[in-house]
Amino acid sequence: MNIYCYNKGTDERSEPLFTYHVNCPQCHQLLLENPPVILQVTDSPHLREEVLSGQYFMHSCSTCQKGIFLPQRLVYLDAQRQFAVAWIPDRTSMSDGQFRQWNEFIHQELLMDIDHYQLRLTLEFEEFKEKIQLFEHAINDQLAEILKLLTDGVFINQFDEDIQARYFQEPIEGLTHLLYLTDQHQRLVSVPASLKTFTWREYEKRTANIAPNEWHRVNIHWATHLLEGLPGDYVPDSKTRKNQNS
Ligand SMILES: [Zn+2]
Repeated sequence: MNIYCYNKGTDERSEPLFTYHVNCPQCHQLLLENPPVILQVTDSPHLREEVLSGQYFMHSCSTCQKGIFLPQRLVYLDAQRQFAVAWIPDRTSMSDGQFRQWNEFIHQELLMDIDHYQLRLTLEFEEFKEKIQLFEHAINDQLAEILKLLTDGVFINQFDEDIQARYFQEPIEGLTHLLYLTDQHQRLVSVPASLKTFTWREYEKRTANIAPNEWHRVNIHWATHLLEGLPGDYVPDSKTRKNQNS
């Protein structure tokens, strides 16, 4: 995947032009030039559906005729529930300077004030989708990540498989479910209601006070840090990330 961005500065004191390209992973044909970077889905259930189903990211390459799922930087913004989830597939290869630049660009592009919004950063599509759904159900995502850690314990007792990832699913008959991806299977696991109650009761006070208007990646590493009393975000390096998600 060749995703990159750069600033084309001019000699004049003018706004820098932010350019963003997405190329075909197959034949490197330029497929998207400055695609939308912010999607306001508030009044568009159809758009929401397209994003969550992944259809939004499907493109066909005019050169190699491939139908391709194209990861791309995108900010999903729900003004009604006041949250924004950014998907930045290439975050680990961005420098802090590039990330700041991206953040400034987003704020410039937005014609609205999001100072009191909850902002979350995601790297994987599944993570992006999950985060949107958690916010839509008004679920505290820090507690959700702690609940994942605790459910892992239950899972490991039952199955002798290496957990690679787990994601919240839409509730089924009011019950919380996690989809586990292991080295061998995909397993849909129902989370015991008592475990959820326990998590909220025991850990709500220990969740971090996340300042709005700051992008954070609240994932299972965040939860681990929270339980260990360590501060701040955990941004894995690409090597660690590969091990966890491959
Ligand atoms: Zn192509």
